[in-house]
Amino acid sequence: MDVKERQKYLVEKLNEYAYNYYVLERPIVSDYDYDILYDELVKIEEETGVILPSSPTQRVGGEVLKGFKKVVHPVKLYSLNKCNDTLGIQKFVEDVNKISPNSRFTVEYKFDGLRIIVKYKNGQLVQASTRGNGSVGEDVTAQVKTIKSVPLSIDYKGELLVAGEGIITIPNLDKYNKTAEEKLKNARNAVAGAIRNLDPKVTSKRNLDVVFYDIISIEDGSLLKTQEEVFEFLKQNKFLTGKLFEVCSTVQEIEQVANKVDKVKAKLDILIDGLVIKLNSLSQREELGFTAKFPKWAIAYKFAPQELTSKLLSVEWNVGRTGKVTPIAHIEPIELAGATVSRATLNNYDDIQRKKVKVNSLVFVRRSNEVIPEILGVAQDTENSQIIEKPTTCPCCGRPLREVGPNIFCTNLSCKDKVINSISHFATRNCMNIEGLSDKIVKTLYENCNVKKFSDLYKLKQEDLINLEGFKDKKINNLLQSIQNSKNPNLNNFIDALGIDGIGEKTAKDLAKKYGSINKLKLATIEDLLTIQDVGEIMAQNIYDYFNNEDNLKELDTLYLLGVKVKEQESKTFDTTNPLYGKKVVLTGTLQNYKRNEATQIIESFGGEVVSSVSKNTDIVLAGSDTGSKLQKAESLGISVISEEDFEKLINK
Ligand code: NAD
Repeated sequence: MDVKERQKYLVEKLNEYAYNYYVLERPIVSDYDYDILYDELVKIEEETGVILPSSPTQRVGGEVLKGFKKVVHPVKLYSLNKCNDTLGIQKFVEDVNKISPNSRFTVEYKFDGLRIIVKYKNGQLVQASTRGNGSVGEDVTAQVKTIKSVPLSIDYKGELLVAGEGIITIPNLDKYNKTAEEKLKNARNAVAGAIRNLDPKVTSKRNLDVVFYDIISIEDGSLLKTQEEVFEFLKQNKFLTGKLFEVCSTVQEIEQVANKVDKVKAKLDILIDGLVIKLNSLSQREELGFTAKFPKWAIAYKFAPQELTSKLLSVEWNVGRTGKVTPIAHIEPIELAGATVSRATLNNYDDIQRKKVKVNSLVFVRRSNEVIPEILGVAQDTENSQIIEKPTTCPCCGRPLREVGPNIFCTNLSCKDKVINSISHFATRNCMNIEGLSDKIVKTLYENCNVKKFSDLYKLKQEDLINLEGFKDKKINNLLQSIQNSKNPNLNNFIDALGIDGIGEKTAKDLAKKYGSINKLKLATIEDLLTIQDVGEIMAQNIYDYFNNEDNLKELDTLYLLGVKVKEQESKTFDTTNPLYGKKVVLTGTLQNYKRNEATQIIESFGGEVVSSVSKNTDIVLAGSDTGSKLQKAESLGISVISEEDFEKLINK
């Protein structure tokens, strides 16, 4: 393909992608793949000086959807030039300083959502629109009015046009996806689909927010002189603004902010895809002006992609320790957020169906919060796309599977994978803490030494292991010693080790606290179990079933006979009227009279729980001196904040 043909091809492909992205809101490639082709086109245009009439480099945004009233913007709404590294930031800063020396710059989050423009007259919201193609947008006033964080009236009475980004928080997106017929692939689609929808009820249901960051025009033109003043003005008029706003003078300072954000971005509850760096002085901006598509006084610094497309090669079904059979997707390896990714999770068969993923299709893969990458949905099907069948028999033992809700289970108690995984779990640090008993060794012991139950571990002798490949005297002694050392577990660790379906570390602790011994827990009724906060009907039934199964009881007796003696714990009944009972408490700042672990012990002794981060589920924040962002977050969520003095009153009640 010669350059001319390539250029034509790129323009056509990019326009096809943009149509799917902006109009259909169903992207068929990742932003990263789009940007690579876009950059190639820009290069060709620069080198040849030829720009085709329909080139996407000449257009801002997408088309205006039919069905919406059009809004003609009073000024053109530009996109942002972008860079991917500090060299790009350096060039931007140098270019600005050439025209306007010693400039100061603001650094804000680049929110990944949909740009919204809102107009106020006499302090009232009169119109909201999308950016559209930059000159004409869609009238989404009714939709935007349903968004609770958008003020319907403000103190400022002059005519005002503000810009912000429609976003959805990740918890809100997850909540929506839990029950939605069709899952929303990512936060950006979720927002665009909710706002560019003729039914405002759809917008309202998705719980969006708009974060405001710019003023496009203001009646008192001379009122605001810098982006800092713009930000202050927005806050004073009760607009929701971004949590990051820094003013920097040098590339190094900007870099420091970027490094700081890089460390925390995975933990934010909103989706950002970079930072926006803007010239602080509004009058200097005028001197710099615009290109056909971008302002010359701002740049988007984009992070390495968290989301890419890859081909789904196959789906493997694995049997977990509870017998749950879950799918793992094998994908063509991709470099994503600093790691080579070749496997990704798909939660269950329902998930596969809702996401419409097929073998040989291109799928979107996202790596967030440093957990295992997840498949978000299908990007494009291919000629060879094949529907993924739901397994009916166990991939390990071949027995028929049982469906329970959206999950499928192998109910064969002696299914090899299930047994191996449950023994591996039994041995982990939070359970029996058997050092050196890796998954691989468990498999060897299963296959060669007849270790098929927890208790079989405690029957192992030197002579059983001597002939195993790779087992020398030292390794054998260490392993047998670790098994011996595990015989006196704490009650909560032992309960966790049993691997009862749905019972993890936290519930195991709650059960240990309430019952104090395995013998008491064995006698617990469903009604009694349900009195524990966070134990629902399914969990209670699972616990009850476990301790009323003869095989399990026999196994517990065998463990006991082999010397496993679980430490008893003083069972506690709490004063349920104490305000700390059953509450999730976050500690922040420095406490004068208590160390953190002392405060934790006190809270737990009243039946409360200390959690590390503030969320909607937090009940109380105990704030000492020198508090940080946790306190701010608690205040913004309306969570009760108590001082050390209040705390002392509560515990002395
Ligand atoms: P952009 O998303 O790269 O950046 C500009 C936008 O950033 C602004 O319009 C504004 O809405 C937003 N923004 C967020 N925070 C901001 C802040 N603090 N201050 C100012 N603005 C802020 O540009 P774009 O023109 O909206 O979209 C182009 C991009 O869309 C491409 O680079 C590509 O990644 C993506 N795209 C993808 C496909 C695809 O098929 N996947 C197709 C077309 C476009």
